[in-house]
Amino acid sequence: MTQEELFKKLVAHCKEYGFVFPSSEIYDGLGAVYDYGQNGVELKNNIKRYWWESMVRLHENIVGLDSAIFMHPRTWEASGHVGAFNDPLIDNKDSKKRYRADVLIEEWIEKQNEKIAKEVEKARKRFGETFDEVQYRTTSPRVMEVAAQRDAIHSRFVRALSESNLDELRQIIVDCEIADPISGTRNWTEVRQFNLMFSTQMGSTAEGANTIYLRPETAQGIFVNFLNVQKTGRMKLPFGIAQIGKAFRNEIVARQFIFRMREFEQMEMQFFVRPGDEMRWYDHWREWRMKWHRSLGFGADNYRFHDHDKLAHYANAAADIEFNFPFGFKEVEGIHSRTDFDLSRHQEFSGKKLQYFDPESGESYVPYVVETSIGLDRMFLQVLSAAYVEEVLENGEERTVLRFPAPLAPVKVAVLPLVKKDGMPEVAREIVDALKYDHNVTYDEKDSVGKRYRRQDALGTPLCVTVDGQTLEDRTVTIRHRDTMQQERVAIDVLPRIVDEICSMRSLLKNLA
Ligand code: ATP
Repeated sequence: MTQEELFKKLVAHCKEYGFVFPSSEIYDGLGAVYDYGQNGVELKNNIKRYWWESMVRLHENIVGLDSAIFMHPRTWEASGHVGAFNDPLIDNKDSKKRYRADVLIEEWIEKQNEKIAKEVEKARKRFGETFDEVQYRTTSPRVMEVAAQRDAIHSRFVRALSESNLDELRQIIVDCEIADPISGTRNWTEVRQFNLMFSTQMGSTAEGANTIYLRPETAQGIFVNFLNVQKTGRMKLPFGIAQIGKAFRNEIVARQFIFRMREFEQMEMQFFVRPGDEMRWYDHWREWRMKWHRSLGFGADNYRFHDHDKLAHYANAAADIEFNFPFGFKEVEGIHSRTDFDLSRHQEFSGKKLQYFDPESGESYVPYVVETSIGLDRMFLQVLSAAYVEEVLENGEERTVLRFPAPLAPVKVAVLPLVKKDGMPEVAREIVDALKYDHNVTYDEKDSVGKRYRRQDALGTPLCVTVDGQTLEDRTVTIRHRDTMQQERVAIDVLPRIVDEICSMRSLLKNLA
């Protein structure tokens, strides 16, 4: 199965099993907007909990916030979004499709890397054990030629971005002979800037109404509340404010399912530090956030850092954490050292002081900020794509299973009476009642037990508990484990402890200690 086929199956699975639906589907959907179904919302809530508890509960010096989506319009002038929250777009005149010019070029650069990797692999096979990769990369004329072309384009690209030189971006696309994947032609328009913020009117009459924006990031709500939280919480530097909430961007190219949406959710933490300490904290959060991802057990090789070529106007260092999605390595989270840009600008635009009085030095200053910003929906897609497995069992049967880390699974336990009679449903209900106050559990009596197991595998339920004839005699049940399909017989009384050990968030959080 190709990665593309795998991704298609994943999207279909999400729909079939109540994880993700296209928004307003009965009206044929709305571009890049999605709804989370009965299982999706549980998975999403569990991811939020993993993030919130690891960031807020495990860190004494981080507190939470829930700020409004609507903010005073001056906020977005101060933050630079009104003037500079743009993407360079380009249209193909034949397919009439719109693309981000920067993404077309980045993909071309990635293709050159793939070409080189292929050459290296071919040579490795040819030379066998004596193969010296470093030597090959630095001496093979073919590899050196591709690398030189790639590096030349890369430096032109970085320069064009930093100078916002749209003509040069277009010229790079022409020089690289990049063709539209749909029409196959190179019939491109000029490159134009496109602001990504959605606007609307606030106020009852059109004349008296104010244009306001739907926030394109949650961070600004944190910055404008910096002093409120610092003072009322008596917070001392360094400290952080964390927030989970919706953000909106009118993305030019919204493909790849929930990877790029127009309405999405972010989990952001702004960490306020003394000026000069920001690089130390930047390094700290970069590592810590990578550890948070890797603690889920999806394989260390599936993650990598990508240091930014072009720093945003507010940053003095920035890196992405990328995950190996079915469509390649892509950003899931950004770690940015934002300097004192945001607080200083809000101070300037609002005329209100946003300074911290440092009791140790006796000075007041505008703190520096290190941000960790992760997309909840991209994280959701990461968890799903890493968990989705199609297996052929020993008896030749096939099963689709979502190998979620148990604490993230939408349903933790399915309780199944073997048959719908002889008092088995009653005992099964009793077990559901014993577990439901601590975990999301489900009761299922429809179809054969084998079919019910498959259904739970496809939902990623880590444990199935079956009530059978023997249960009625000795109050024991079988527990079936999702990944190994092994079954064990245990007393009903010990079920809460076993479920707790396997499914509670504690096990994930302890990995981070
Ligand atoms: P990209 O380069 O992919 O457009 P970005 O660098 O603009 O992303 P940030 O502004 O750093 O993204 O936002 C932080 C995080 O928010 C991203 O790492 C991503 O997980 C998430 N995010 C950003 N835009 C979207 C979107 N349109 N849909 C879903 N998640 C998003």
